[in-house]
Amino acid sequence: MTQENINLNKINKDKAEPRREIAESDFTTDVPSENKLAKHAIQVHKFGGSSLATAECIKRVLEIIRANCQLNDIVVVSANGKTTDSLFALHDLVERTIAEQKIQTSDEITQLITALAKAQEKLITDLLNANNTKQLLLRLSKDIEQLSHWLAGDIVKYRNDILAFGEVWSARLLSALLNEQVCPSNSIDSRDFLVIDNEQSCVVDTAKSAAQLRQRRQFGKLAVITGYISKDSRGNSCTLGRNGSDYSATIIASLVAAGNVTLWTDVDGIYSADPRVVPNARKLHRLPNGVAKELGRLGNPVLHAKTLLPLINPLSEHHTHLHVASSFDPKVIGTEIGKFGQIAKQELSVTYLNDLLLAQSVSFTGKTAERAKAEFSPLCMDNQKGFMVITQEQQKSLSQWLASHDVEITFKPVSIIATVGHRVAERGDIKARFKRSLKTAKPIDILGSDNDHSVIAILPETCSIELLNSVHHEMTKDVRHIGLVVAGMGNIGERFLELLPAQLNKVYALENLHLVGLLSSKKALINNDGIDVAQASKLFAQEAQNYDTEQLISWLTQNPYDELIVVDITPSEDFSLLYEQMFSLGIHVIGANKWAASSSTKHFNNLVNTADKNNSLWLGNTTVGAGLPINYAIEDLRQSGDSISELSGIFSGTLSWLFETYDGTTKFSELLLNALAQGITEPDPREDLSGRDVQRKLLILARKAGFELALEDIDCQNLVPEALQSLSTHDFLARANELDEYFSSALSDAKSKGACIRYVARFQYDDATGVTAKVSLEVLPQTDAFANLTPCDNIFQISSHWYQDNPLIIRGPGAGRDVTAGGLHSDLVKICQQLAHKQHQVRIKGIN
Ligand code: ASP
Ligand code: MG
Repeated sequence: MTQENINLNKINKDKAEPRREIAESDFTTDVPSENKLAKHAIQVHKFGGSSLATAECIKRVLEIIRANCQLNDIVVVSANGKTTDSLFALHDLVERTIAEQKIQTSDEITQLITALAKAQEKLITDLLNANNTKQLLLRLSKDIEQLSHWLAGDIVKYRNDILAFGEVWSARLLSALLNEQVCPSNSIDSRDFLVIDNEQSCVVDTAKSAAQLRQRRQFGKLAVITGYISKDSRGNSCTLGRNGSDYSATIIASLVAAGNVTLWTDVDGIYSADPRVVPNARKLHRLPNGVAKELGRLGNPVLHAKTLLPLINPLSEHHTHLHVASSFDPKVIGTEIGKFGQIAKQELSVTYLNDLLLAQSVSFTGKTAERAKAEFSPLCMDNQKGFMVITQEQQKSLSQWLASHDVEITFKPVSIIATVGHRVAERGDIKARFKRSLKTAKPIDILGSDNDHSVIAILPETCSIELLNSVHHEMTKDVRHIGLVVAGMGNIGERFLELLPAQLNKVYALENLHLVGLLSSKKALINNDGIDVAQASKLFAQEAQNYDTEQLISWLTQNPYDELIVVDITPSEDFSLLYEQMFSLGIHVIGANKWAASSSTKHFNNLVNTADKNNSLWLGNTTVGAGLPINYAIEDLRQSGDSISELSGIFSGTLSWLFETYDGTTKFSELLLNALAQGITEPDPREDLSGRDVQRKLLILARKAGFELALEDIDCQNLVPEALQSLSTHDFLARANELDEYFSSALSDAKSKGACIRYVARFQYDDATGVTAKVSLEVLPQTDAFANLTPCDNIFQISSHWYQDNPLIIRGPGAGRDVTAGGLHSDLVKICQQLAHKQHQVRIKGIN
C-alpha cells in the first residue's frame, strides 16, 4: 500500500484524520498511466451470497471493508444467502400455477413471499439502528407489495424485475450499515448504468455504461453496487445468469479500469482440484489468466467461465488482477489471477465434469465442424474423428441443429477429466504422465484444448472420486512451490549464492525451489516471479531497494508460495527478533545466526513453541561447528531414545588454531596478531578470547540435547584480563603483549606435567548433581583427543547412555566460507525434503 492510501480502518479509528477526498480523476474511465495507477487504482470488492447470508456474516463483511477499502473503491454484492433461489422458486411456482390453472397453490405463494420478507426484516432489524430499520422496513414493504403485484400480473414480462430484488435489498442493507458504522456510502442499482445488448449474448455497451456509472458514483461515498442485474438497450431488466455477480464485478472493474478485483467467497482460493473431494488438493496461489479461464470453462466451481472475460484484454496495457479470498477467513491469503512470470506458469491442476455426452456426426468434420463449434462451444472436439463433447442440456438444440442439416448423430454418455496448466498440451512429459495416471480408466480419447491450457481425457464411465484423487496425486505430487529468501549478503551469503545454481541443478529435492528474495540489513531485492540465481549478487547490487521491517513482514505475509524458507546468514540480533513473526506466518528458518538459538530461556521456548504450532521448521546446523553434523548427531541420538550425559570439545576455530599452534617458541601476542592478519580471528580478537562465542555454542548444543538452561548457567572464563577489557580495539592490540605472561606460565606449568593447554567447552549432567557447564582454559594430557587437532579444527565429544565408555567424536573444520555455506545448503536440502511431504489444511466454510 502506498503512502497516499488511507484505508477506512484508519479513517474510522482516528477521527481526527481527514477523510480522503475523492478527486475527479478517481472517476476516470481512461486507462490510467502507470503512475496514476500506482496511486489511485480503484479496487473492486465483491461479496458472494454466502458471505452475506446472516447478520453475523455481514458484520464480518463490514470488518473486511473497513480493513481493505478506500472511499473511491467499489463494493459489489450478491443477494443475501439463497434469496435468488427463493425468488426463482416463487417465480416458477406462480408460472406453474398459471400453466396448470391451480388455485390451491396461492397459499403456498403467500407463504413463500412472507418467508422472503421475514428473512429480510430479520437482517434489517438485527443489524441497523432504529431510524434506519424504520426506513428500510418501509422500503421493503413497498417492494413486497410490488413483488406481489408483479406475481399477480404479467409474470413473463417482470421475471427479471422479480429476480433483481435479491441484489437490490442486499446492496441497500449493506450501504445503510456502512453509513452507520464505517463510512459514507450509497447504494447503486446496476440497472441504472449497466447496459447490455441482450441477455443471450450479453455484450456490454462499455461507453454508455462507463459514463452512466461515473454519474452515479458520488464523491466521498463508498459505492455499493448490485451484482447480477443490468438492463438491455430497450430498458428492460436483465440478469447476467446464475451466479453472475462475479461477472458484474469484473465488468464494473473494466469500466473503471480497476487495479484489482477481490471475490470474497466461502472458499479461500482456487485449489489444484476440488478440495471438498480431493483432500490433498493444494491452493494455487497464482494463476495466469488464460489458465484460470480454462479452469472456469472446464467446470471449476469458483471460477465461472465469463468472470474473467472483462479482465483479459490483450490490446490493453492495463491489467486488472483478480483475487479469490474467503470472507470467513480474511487473513488467509487466497488466489491471485493475472499476468505472471514463469513460476506461476508451472502450476498444474486437475478438474472433471460428469454427465456429459459424446456426440458423433459427419457434420463435425470438414467445413461444418467450424460452424458447429461456433454454435455450441463444446468442451472439446475432434474434427478429424467427427465428435464433440457437450452437456446434456445442449443435446436437444444440437439434435435440432443437425436435423436441419439432415445428418445422423449418435450420443454416448461420457465424462471428462482434464489436467490444466499453462500450455500443458504442448508438453510431452505432462501429457505422458497424465496418460499413465489414467491407467485403468480406459479413456476413449485424450486431446489438447484449442488454447493448449488443458489436456482432456474423455472417459466412458463417470469420473469417480478415487480416479480424481489418483490422477491429481500423479499430476501434482511434486509441484509445491517453495520460495527462498537469503538474508545476509556478506562473505558466507555470497558463497551460499555462488553454490546455489549447481545445487538447484543436481539435487532433486530442490526441484521446486525458487530464489525470490535477497536481503541485506538495509536493502532488499524481492521478486515473486523469481530472481535469476546465476546473477543473484549482481542483480542485488544493481536493483535492491531500501526497505524497513514493516515492508518486509508485509511481503512475507502475502508471499504467494506454498512454503517460504528464510536463510539467515546475518550476524544480526535484530533480524533474529523477527523469527517469532516468521514462525507465526508458517515460514521456515535456517539460521546460521546464533542469537535466537542462544537467547533467554523464555524467548527461546517461545520460539520453539511458535514454530511447532505453525508447522514451521527451524534448522541451525551451522550455528555450531559450521558444516560439521554435530547438531544432526545430537538430534538423532535424542530422537532415537538415547540420553546424553556429556558434551565437550573445542568449539572455536580461532581458539583451536591459537592453542594448537602455541608452543612457547613465539610469544602468544605475536601469534594473536599473526592470526588477526590471516583473518583467523574476529576484527577485535577479544571477541574470540572472551569465550562468549563458545559459551553460546555450548548453550545451543545443550538445548539441542534436551536440557533447559540459560547462558548464565554456563561459567565462562574470559581470557582477556580485566585491564584490557574496555580498551578500544586499537589500544588493545597495542597492549596485546600484556597477555603473554599468563599464557607462557600456563603453558610451561602444563608442559612440566607432560600436558598441554586448550580452551574447552564442557557440559555434564547426572541425576545426582544436575547440570555443570563451563568454558575455560584446561590443562589436558597430550594423549587427550582434544590435544592433537589440525589447527582451526573443531572437535565435539558426546557421552551418552549408548556411548558410555568410548565417546562419540566428530571432528573437522569448524569454520570457513565453503564449509559454512555447504552446511547451510545441507540444511536447505533437509528442509525441502521434509516439506515435500507436508500437507496443507484446506479451509472451506462448512468443512472446517
Ligand atoms: N444472486 C445471484 C445468484 O444466486 C447472483 C450471484 O449470487 O452471483 O445466482
Ligand atoms: Mg503459504
